[in-house]
Amino acid sequence: MQQQVKSSSQADPEFRKQEGAGGLWDSLKKAAFIIGSGIFLLAAFGNSITWHLQRFWGASGDFWQTQWTKLHLLFGDNEWALFFMGSMILPTASFWVFNALLMLADSTGKPSFITRYRIQADKNNPVDPVKLRHAVKTVWCNQLFLSMPMVCLTYLVMKWRGDPCSVELPTFHWVLLEIAVCGLLEEILFYYSHRLFHHPAIYKHIHKIHHEWTAPIGIVSLYSHPAEHVLSNMLPVLIGPVLLGTHLATLSLWFTIALLVTTVSHCGYHLPLLPSPEFHDFHHLKFNQCYGVLGVLDRLHGTDTIFRQTKAYDRHLLLLSLTPLTESIPDTPKKTQ
Ligand SMILES: [Zn+2]
Ligand SMILES: [Zn+2]
Repeated sequence: MQQQVKSSSQADPEFRKQEGAGGLWDSLKKAAFIIGSGIFLLAAFGNSITWHLQRFWGASGDFWQTQWTKLHLLFGDNEWALFFMGSMILPTASFWVFNALLMLADSTGKPSFITRYRIQADKNNPVDPVKLRHAVKTVWCNQLFLSMPMVCLTYLVMKWRGDPCSVELPTFHWVLLEIAVCGLLEEILFYYSHRLFHHPAIYKHIHKIHHEWTAPIGIVSLYSHPAEHVLSNMLPVLIGPVLLGTHLATLSLWFTIALLVTTVSHCGYHLPLLPSPEFHDFHHLKFNQCYGVLGVLDRLHGTDTIFRQTKAYDRHLLLLSLTPLTESIPDTPKKTQ
């Protein structure tokens, strides 16, 4: 229904004329919808997990606080270990488990219920194993030699400005608010650092590596030059927790979300119920469009004008059915690409 409304209104020349003025507002609304629905899903997910754990494990009272207190008693003397587990091991393990599943699909073309959602149907079918091995090695190096020291440094800064591992957990609503702020800060820092890396004088030395993949896969999210990994991948994600002085629990959840979201945006499959990867996939395809994460700054700076005239833009929505968008919105000659 939403797709039909969008397509018919775009076909109207009057609408196109007015679009410039209302475009930014539309973009803001879309971003608010993305963040809002994400936060809503997270809240529902948190509530149902708590409910299931309490029901099946017989826990009572404040479940998460009880678990955290136990963990704190166990590792309280060694906060480093606690911080390292929450900020590095949990998010990194989630990243690799998700990416292992995606790499299996990329390498074998199976299961077909995943591969039929591929955005660039003729690419990575299957993925080049040599190219894949090289990407995996680079990502390991980035995580081991850059992410890890940066996270340790973050611990020292956060310890200096507060107590990230305090016994008392923040409320779930406060956690959600902090994650929304972290998301907005990431959008601003990522957009401008990313555009900087596209400057002709810098691009060929640094960002070109990430763009070797014109049809990206999940693991490519962290496949980059070391300088880019520090400035564009890590800093925009770290800045929120440091500025807000978040609790380790928030930081852990935020890092995990950030890693999973960037994996989805690179994975090359537009899967049901997951955030749309069309925006960043288009960036890898065309290079000079769609620099941000949410798309608000791209609308503001006019760096999504070509994208908005494509089928990829029509498909840039949350897929709520099992029919792949390449089938429900096929590439017809009607619309200019
Ligand atoms: Zn990318
Ligand atoms: Zn780029």
